[in-house]
Amino acid sequence: MIQYLIIQLDDTSVSFCHYANSRRICKLIALDDLKAGILFAMKENLSIQFVYPDYALPDEYKKTIGTIDHSKIVPAGYQGEADVVVFEDWTSFVNYNFSLTQTYVLRTSKSALFNNYSSLADILVKIYRLNIVFTDIADFTEEDFNVYAQVLQSISKMIDVCFQQGKSPQLNLLTDRMMLDRMNNCNAGWENITLAPDGKFYICPAFYLEDGVTAVGDLQTGLDIKNPQLYRLDHAPLCRICDAYQCKRCIYLNRKSTLEVNTPSHEQCTISHIERNAARSLLAVIRQTENTYMKNVEIKEITYMDPFDIRKK
Ligand code: SF4
Repeated sequence: MIQYLIIQLDDTSVSFCHYANSRRICKLIALDDLKAGILFAMKENLSIQFVYPDYALPDEYKKTIGTIDHSKIVPAGYQGEADVVVFEDWTSFVNYNFSLTQTYVLRTSKSALFNNYSSLADILVKIYRLNIVFTDIADFTEEDFNVYAQVLQSISKMIDVCFQQGKSPQLNLLTDRMMLDRMNNCNAGWENITLAPDGKFYICPAFYLEDGVTAVGDLQTGLDIKNPQLYRLDHAPLCRICDAYQCKRCIYLNRKSTLEVNTPSHEQCTISHIERNAARSLLAVIRQTENTYMKNVEIKEITYMDPFDIRKK
């Protein structure tokens, strides 16, 4: 059941996830569509997340947005209050004045993470939550998987140091799996839907930005998702037997890489299992000093890195 409405306010609104936004020409959602989107969310009892561009919105828009409870996702450099701040480069990220009340998203390529992860040691102690999102999952090689496992091991040591100092920062790649007892995926098309600047609904902003022809309804006629069951976990044969609960199970990347919205690529599955196993090791390390930490959580040892390898034949 849909619970969240993401409203992409402008064509140039920041990407907060795996997709790229290369649009540079501003196209703000029409004020009437913004109002209709808010009304739609109110009628359907949906929580709204507004995704901002990097310029100040006209006053009429600010006033309209202020009429409803919402979360704000903004690019780093945006002047004003925000719930989630998104960084697209490490330079602005490492130099940012962090606050414990915000969540941060860092969009990074694998090589940028491999080269810069050591700077996380100073940052993790200053934040409440950081989501690191890869922009190039499809390009991971077998060698990259090995490097990624080592990088996560090093970051785990930084998180353990934070715990020893009485701080418990959340980093999606490592701490989410420790806190989950079921799948917690993106669930685009199932639990959330996007309203784009053209007044139409899309599975997520990536579907609008990529081609703009895959709309799943509009503000006049409502939502029209073909085969909605395909977006659900119980219709995903590989994912429903998997316990890499922190995986985003990105519908956009699935469609791109396997042509099936509910089947992830080998790269997405392997990366998620590397994180799952690193979380298992981190949990064991934290318990050496805090033996009751997440005491009901058990992450089992497994022998595979991709559920495809153990599927029932
Ligand atoms: S489908 Fe979800 S995880 Fe994938 S790009 Fe869209 S919002 Fe992100």
